[in-house]
Amino acid sequence: MAYFDNIKPKKGNIHIVKDRCKGCGFCVEYCPNNVLELSEEFNIKGYHPPYIKHEEDCIYCQLCETICPEFSIYVTLKEEEEEIEKSKS
Ligand code: SF4
Ligand code: SF4
Repeated sequence: MAYFDNIKPKKGNIHIVKDRCKGCGFCVEYCPNNVLELSEEFNIKGYHPPYIKHEEDCIYCQLCETICPEFSIYVTLKEEEEEIEKSKS
């Protein structure tokens, strides 16, 4: 249907502020698409921050951002950033 041809799924750019993270794993546990995983590395506080395992699967639901008790993860909309980049060039 033509109407739906114009609807593109949203894609997110995930940003992790590693040294704020307390390694609780909420973002990993509750992400609906298993985009994240806790890493083996230690941050400055001695916790394991998450890393992005499947960025292409992020649907910009922002649940990770909402659920993180330390404000150490946030997501921006990929299309918007691409538009801004295009307008600069
Ligand atoms: S925005 Fe949603 S899909 Fe993307 S990493 Fe966060 S919880 Fe997962
Ligand atoms: S929810 Fe926040 S504090 Fe918990 S592991 Fe994820 S980024 Fe770290």
